Amino acid sequence: MRPSNPRNVSVLLLGHIGYTVGAVATLEGAARGRLSVDYRAVAVMSLAPDIIDRGLFVFALPSAMGGRLVAHTLLFQAILFSALVLVNPRFWIYGAASAFHLILDTTHPSVAWAHHVLWPFLGADWKAVDIAPGLAKDLGSYSDWTVARAQTVLAPYQADDWLAWALELGGALVLAWFVYRRRLYRVPRLREFLVKGSA
Ligand SMILES: [Zn+2]
Repeated sequence: MRPSNPRNVSVLLLGHIGYTVGAVATLEGAARGRLSVDYRAVAVMSLAPDIIDRGLFVFALPSAMGGRLVAHTLLFQAILFSALVLVNPRFWIYGAASAFHLILDTTHPSVAWAHHVLWPFLGADWKAVDIAPGLAKDLGSYSDWTVARAQTVLAPYQADDWLAWALELGGALVLAWFVYRRRLYRVPRLREFLVKGSA
């Protein structure tokens, strides 16, 4: 049972980073100095569910059917959030950045997506999180399926996926606004931002 068209494999790179950075910058402004943020960590955490699930899909989990697995569930996000807060209470913002990813991924709300995000509370079936135990036996060698999956994950959007392109453009505009507001177009400011993660 090889899925001919693995689901949800393209990563909304600028969309996730842009909207999450924009939301955190707005919060930081409202907090008036009470929130210290490393925007490098915000950018990474905005992509954390995709980094984890795509990593599992390509390298570790032959029974995965697509690029959205357990890291795209509220349960996983609650555990991640709690672990980060236990390490350092200030890290709540990075847990929130990762959880915000699920909202941005809800571009096509559906019953299946609700079962996925709320897994295992609406049913503990692995298929709800796109994992099909038994899929592995037809996949061939490790290099066969990892190379094929890496290609699907790295493939660009379809030219007619207008919503994905629009979301990416919106994210790029938010990032441009951030660069303008923080004056990161000035090289010394940009260098300081890249070293410190804030400006
Ligand atoms: Zn995602």
